[in-house]
Amino acid sequence: MRKTWIPKALAFAAITTGILTGCSASPASSDGKLNVVTTFYPMYEFTKQVAGEHANVVALIPAGAEPHDWEPSAKDMKKVKEASVFVYNGIVEGWVDDALESAGNEKRIVIEASKGITLMEGLPEEEGHGHEHKDDHKEAQDGKVLDPHVWLDPVLAQKEVNTIAEGLAQADPAHKDDYRKNADAYIAKLQALDTSFRTSLTSVKRKEFVTQHTAFGYLAKEYGLTQVPIAGLSPEEEPAPDKMADIIKFAKYNQVKTIFFETLVDPKVAKTIAKEINAKTDVLNPLEGLTSKEMKDNHDYLSVMNSNLEALMKALNE
Ligand SMILES: [Zn+2]
Repeated sequence: MRKTWIPKALAFAAITTGILTGCSASPASSDGKLNVVTTFYPMYEFTKQVAGEHANVVALIPAGAEPHDWEPSAKDMKKVKEASVFVYNGIVEGWVDDALESAGNEKRIVIEASKGITLMEGLPEEEGHGHEHKDDHKEAQDGKVLDPHVWLDPVLAQKEVNTIAEGLAQADPAHKDDYRKNADAYIAKLQALDTSFRTSLTSVKRKEFVTQHTAFGYLAKEYGLTQVPIAGLSPEEEPAPDKMADIIKFAKYNQVKTIFFETLVDPKVAKTIAKEINAKTDVLNPLEGLTSKEMKDNHDYLSVMNSNLEALMKALNE
């Protein structure tokens, strides 16, 4: 019996909500702002910059957590369900399709920020490092995995900001001019960042840098550098012994003086390699999340990218 009247009640509730919120595409939160849920840090930061005062933006993946192996809890799923806009990068978040399907709601605006960007292939599985991470990454048609780390290229980051701005305008047309204005202001900062990278990295002494995982492929390509990753597309992978030997040989041959590690992942392999070739270690931050300390010190995408540039220049000029 209940089954016959619940759908009517829901239909009535939907109509009422539509009237109260002025028939916008999606329900807003109680303060009239868009309720936007994002996945990991750069998606949160880019969205916040575009949304300005018109949205409540939250990140699902907390400070200090590494997004490649993260999965949503029941509490996270509740946030996804209540979101009128959902923003994700694509590929890093292998759980998204299932989560959105189970959350339902056809009116939710879903923004895949990397959409429209031609993704590079990562290392094929056979050249991977012993572990298979099939669930982590969508595979391209020929069985190779795609590299999701576009946010680390200041040029491709601008495209992501544009895609987010278009999605927010679609969800909340009343404020579309503000979203465009905010996006343009942030894109100007990203263009300045791109100029710094380009001018600083053209005259460096060497082009090769060793990273903890394959996060800097797009950045390397943009500025004519060569990334030599210790692990594959996911930082939790541990390199096989023969791969370790290859990296050590490469680093010695190219006189690499710095081995980079990350803030969210155990640096023991990077430190082992550095010790072996008598190199230093330094941080190159893939911005897959900020630590609580970085948050407290008011670090953001731009400040961390500027630190990355300084670290790269130091390592490549030694
Ligand atoms: Zn990564």
